[in-house]
Amino acid sequence: MLNIIICGAPGCGKGTQSDLIVEKYSLNHLSTGDLLRKEIEEKSELGLIADNYISKGNFVPDEMIIDILMKKIDSQSSNINGIILDGFPRTVSQAEALEDLLEKRNKKTTILVDLQVDEQELINRLLKRGETSGRSDDNLETIKKRLEIYQEKTKPVNNFYKKLGKYAAIDGMGSVNEIFERISAVIDSKLES
Ligand code: ADP
Repeated sequence: MLNIIICGAPGCGKGTQSDLIVEKYSLNHLSTGDLLRKEIEEKSELGLIADNYISKGNFVPDEMIIDILMKKIDSQSSNINGIILDGFPRTVSQAEALEDLLEKRNKKTTILVDLQVDEQELINRLLKRGETSGRSDDNLETIKKRLEIYQEKTKPVNNFYKKLGKYAAIDGMGSVNEIFERISAVIDSKLES
């Protein structure tokens, strides 16, 4: 089973690359951002709570997102090739919860792919996305806040996986295809080992 985490700052291209990885390796895509936006769109109780955090650029509470993710993982069919986690774990305590949850189900993370993109490029991409995305968090003030929170809370997740020997840094600058080739090379090397 191939269980991949795709990680990186907001705007690094996680969603775009996840779609390509899903297609090539037949994985199930679990995007916590997409799951939360769906709840917001449906105006569910959970969505209303999440919207309050997301529109201000904050994370939703760990317990809430861990619970959502756990239910999602348990509702998947058992004969899948694996999963790609996009937007999770975003904090060290989410990473600990994830590893615990997988271990209890006799599964493990194969690798964390860290997509690295220059800050100015991230801001440009997110502002451009904001012109059409309709996302309440794609405006300059919220983008800056999200980038700060990324540095403070999500970057330490990289070290957590480095210590487990499951970390791969990928240059996220360049064309979508170039970046995808870099990621594929890392995944292929895991498949061979
Ligand atoms: P991006 O990578 O552009 O920041 P996402 O679609 O992954 O966007 O997430 C959008 C927002 O949803 C985040 O800024 C955060 O508020 C919330 N969110 C998504 N995943 C998580 C998570 N694992 N923990 C806490 N909040 C999350």
